[in-house]
Amino acid sequence: MYNNIKRLALKLGCKVFIDEPMSKHTTFKIGGPADLFIKIFNMDSLRIILEEIANNNLNYFVLGKGSNLLVSDFGFRGIILKLGGNFSAVKKTDDTKLQCGSSASLAKACVFALKNNLSGLEFAWGIPGTCGGAAYMNAGAYGSDMSSIITNCVSIDKKGRVKNTKAKDLKFSYRKSVFFENDDIILDISVKLVPGDKDKIKSQMHEYISRRKLKQPLDFPNAGSVFKRPQNNYAGTLIEKCGLKGKRIGNAMVSNKHAGFIVNAGNATCKDVTDLIKFVQNDVFNKTGVFLEKEVIILGEKIWAMSQNN
Ligand SMILES: Cc1cc2nc3c(=O)[nH]c(=O)nc-3n(C[C@H](O)[C@H](O)[C@H](O)COP(=O)(O)OP(=O)(O)OC[C@H]3O[C@@H](n4cnc5c(N)ncnc54)[C@H](O)[C@@H]3O)c2cc1C
Repeated sequence: MYNNIKRLALKLGCKVFIDEPMSKHTTFKIGGPADLFIKIFNMDSLRIILEEIANNNLNYFVLGKGSNLLVSDFGFRGIILKLGGNFSAVKKTDDTKLQCGSSASLAKACVFALKNNLSGLEFAWGIPGTCGGAAYMNAGAYGSDMSSIITNCVSIDKKGRVKNTKAKDLKFSYRKSVFFENDDIILDISVKLVPGDKDKIKSQMHEYISRRKLKQPLDFPNAGSVFKRPQNNYAGTLIEKCGLKGKRIGNAMVSNKHAGFIVNAGNATCKDVTDLIKFVQNDVFNKTGVFLEKEVIILGEKIWAMSQNN
């Protein structure tokens, strides 16, 4: 089924992996094999690969750093597209504006902003995603998020059409963007920052990363906050109040350090994590009346659900 696209991708200089374990590509370190995994380094290759995908009606998923992703134990029936190379550039387009390739890490963008005495990205220091993944998720922390700095996003749709969408049309809301509604692949984002003092920017970044180290279970594989923040409350606070810190199903565990995080305490499966997510949702709802909505993206969930019914 994938022979043609595999050959084509190799000819284009892409890296190609068959039955690639997704546990290697998620910060949770969980996930079965993806049928095909293609790493694409430039725009020409991406266009040709997308054309081949469209012509053969193949299933695909765009991967960033996998830091907000839980992949089924049964893996993904389709093609994982991972951008790199030319898609990782970060450059200054005017005094206060940066253009960041979608596969550039947020860390790279933050360091670039710091070097150029530009303030506004400090909140993202310590969020372990790509600029594309951050735009998709409208990632945020410490009172700011991507929607407050993004001016526009360039993306390509599955028919190969490139669009430049202005912020007002990106439908940003809490951990959501217009990209939830379409299959576009984000190519780059432009962010507007403000001139700042290098030492102040640096110390702000330092403060944020220190807070993360203090509060987050960074010594275990995880995917950040599993649940969205409910209105006027915090998921972690509610989960802790329900006595669920340390609650374990299989090798998935509600973190003892931060109850909003579920950690992989050692070879956890996707099923362990999804069972624990459901347990936490039910328990918190029964005890507090608040339904905790998932923030983490689950890939191949249907495969998992089918297997559970069997
Ligand atoms: C320790 C830790 C701390 C975290 N802290 C925070 C935090 O403070 N705030 C916060 O918001 N999040 C946080 N996260 C979650 C995560 O880092 C963010 O959601 C991040 O933006 C995800 O980026 P990614 O590149 O890893 O995307 P992935 O997890 O790879 O993908 C997430 C979604 O984005 C889509 N996507 C990725 N790249 C593209 C692209 N180029 N085009 C189209 N779609 C794309 C994917 O298809 C998927 O649907 C944390 C995670 C961890 C592990």
